[in-house]
Amino acid sequence: MATEKTIQMGTQCVWAGEESYLMQGATQVPVVHSVSFGYDDVDEWLAVALGQREGHIYGRNTNPTVHAFEEKVRQLEGAKAATSASTGMGIISSALFALLSPGMRVVSVKDTYGGTNVIFTEFLPRFNVEIELCDTTDHEQIEAEIVKGCDLLYLESPTNPTTKVVDIARLTSAGHQSGAIVIVDNTFATPINQNPLQLGADLVLHSATKFLGGHADALGGVICGSKSLVDQIYHFREINGETLHPMGAYLLLRGIKTLELRIRQQNRSALKIAQYLESHPAIEQVFYPGLPSHGGHEIASKQMSGFGGMLSFMLQENSFDAVRRFVPRLRYAHAAANLGAVETIVGPPATTSHVECTAAERSAMGIPESLIRYSTGIENTADLLADLEQALRGF
Ligand SMILES: *Cc1c(COP(=O)(O)O)cnc(C)c1O
Repeated sequence: MATEKTIQMGTQCVWAGEESYLMQGATQVPVVHSVSFGYDDVDEWLAVALGQREGHIYGRNTNPTVHAFEEKVRQLEGAKAATSASTGMGIISSALFALLSPGMRVVSVKDTYGGTNVIFTEFLPRFNVEIELCDTTDHEQIEAEIVKGCDLLYLESPTNPTTKVVDIARLTSAGHQSGAIVIVDNTFATPINQNPLQLGADLVLHSATKFLGGHADALGGVICGSKSLVDQIYHFREINGETLHPMGAYLLLRGIKTLELRIRQQNRSALKIAQYLESHPAIEQVFYPGLPSHGGHEIASKQMSGFGGMLSFMLQENSFDAVRRFVPRLRYAHAAANLGAVETIVGPPATTSHVECTAAERSAMGIPESLIRYSTGIENTADLLADLEQALRGF
């Protein structure tokens, strides 16, 4: 069989992590619901408990179905180790609380995912962790803050909802010079379009709820990196109990089998849609890293192999009322809070990523009231373009 390194992503999506635990000729990983795992031989039980031997003891810690999911993502990210949690926020909070101690300093950007931002602004300061949130695209400012002292550098690219791009290799190198651990949230890009570990990062994480699972029917989070860092995060997660459910793990595992196919289609459609919208008179601005007009296009071209399925755009009529009238006109889009599914999904930041902010706060963050986030599904591209065309008539 080909080794992990020589096989292509599309093949890995289908086969990685699937080999273990197949019983009685089953071709699919079973959903193991058992909470505990019994041993007739006490010495074998002890060896598993001491980590000297592979196996499972109790479902809050590890489970065979969950392990298969972690193994698939680990191979896709080309990492030494991986561990999971019940949600994306579960893995993000587990990583931050496992790796940080009072007196440490975190450098990050203003445009991280809303929940991550709440950990930075509300929770970590309570534990005397210093947080510096920089302008997302101001690389000089981020580097200047890193030099002042940085134990953990936390990045996300492209960001939500205006698809800002940070130079992962450049900032990782600056972070490492200050001795920082570098974490990248790779949810928007997926391992198909971007590999932060290859760009030098120490840890890469996903809300598997989004593109990895791809079907909006299971929550989950996963983080990959070196064994020593992943072990620390796992240890915190086994204690805080944010365990991924075996049924969720199975749905995510099955979803990933089509990840490369889906992402290829979403990359292609999103670029065509972004180009179409940019030329439409009713559209004021389009945010998509694949457009040459996008501020991060050059960096994105360097570090991404595809620009992803996420874009956002601003209607010429810059009011929430315009959004109110526009969104229900789309036939092939769920108006919903999530993203990354096979169906196209739309939503304004006011009800999705920035629901906890006031209109004034959103405006201060550079998020216009008529912004619409568009998560491109796998529908036929021409049908999506025609749907947008009819919805924009009269705007
Ligand atoms: C959704 C999301 C998260 C949080 O994931 P959950 O599974 O909803 O907890 C984190 N980061 C990004 C970029 C996301 O889009």
